[in-house]
Amino acid sequence: MIYIGNHVSSSKGYEAMGKQEVALGGDTFAFFTRNPRGGSAKEIKDEDVQRLLTLMKDHSFGPLVAHAPYTMNVCAAKEDIRKFSVEMLKDDIRRMEYLPGVFYNFHPGSHVGQGSEAGIELISAALNECISSTQGVTILLETMAGKGSEVGRSFEELKEIMDRVSCKEKLGVCFDTCHVWDGGYDIVNHLDEVLSEFDRLIGLDKLCAVHLNDSMNDCGAHKDRHQKLGLGKIGEEALRRVVTHPALQGRPFILETPNEDDGYAREIAMVRKWQEQ
Ligand code: FE
Ligand code: FE
Ligand code: ZN
Repeated sequence: MIYIGNHVSSSKGYEAMGKQEVALGGDTFAFFTRNPRGGSAKEIKDEDVQRLLTLMKDHSFGPLVAHAPYTMNVCAAKEDIRKFSVEMLKDDIRRMEYLPGVFYNFHPGSHVGQGSEAGIELISAALNECISSTQGVTILLETMAGKGSEVGRSFEELKEIMDRVSCKEKLGVCFDTCHVWDGGYDIVNHLDEVLSEFDRLIGLDKLCAVHLNDSMNDCGAHKDRHQKLGLGKIGEEALRRVVTHPALQGRPFILETPNEDDGYAREIAMVRKWQEQ
């Protein structure tokens, strides 16, 4: 069994997100830790979080997958953006302590012309500055499609970042099916081989969460345009094999497909049906 849910709006607070997900039929969800395009974050209300934790227990939820804002780029070429990003990362790790067992997913970053080696250095340095061995939060590097100068377009790049971080037990990977496909991994025809490759380089025990998306583009296109499940180039059969793959059971799967609520409810029901078959 896997946990399935979607990305919900955090504007009404934590308990509201849980209620929303229950209404859609899910048992996990993702949310932005703050405005996806902006800076400052709302302080977390302890009672609100406690009510969410109770709801999650009552509905047997899996771990949640918080998402860092898109503006975060810890390997930016400009020092002020880098500093601002590291401060956001520190602050988010602190705030997510309210949610025991939460995953905190972030895009490794874009090196903007400095080269991926320099990017990898800056990302690992930022993680070493922010991660402490006592934190409860596990930080996930998201696999990227490789558009522009994105770092993390290959398992090798993610491994290189992770190898340089001293607190490895607080690090994992979020496997985005659209990004991996766009990045050149053929999960339609060679899912077993792709997962073996991930295991060889990083270890499947580090694959903590999945972003379940179809893709508008071909394998290796490096585009990053998500599509509804079954309507893209990955297709229903291949996504069903991902959901039911023995090596991926027990993980939270998050939909980031272009949908409104009714579309998410349908996709959640569809994924549950795949699991029963
Ligand atoms: Fe993402
Ligand atoms: Fe994603
Ligand atoms: Zn994406």
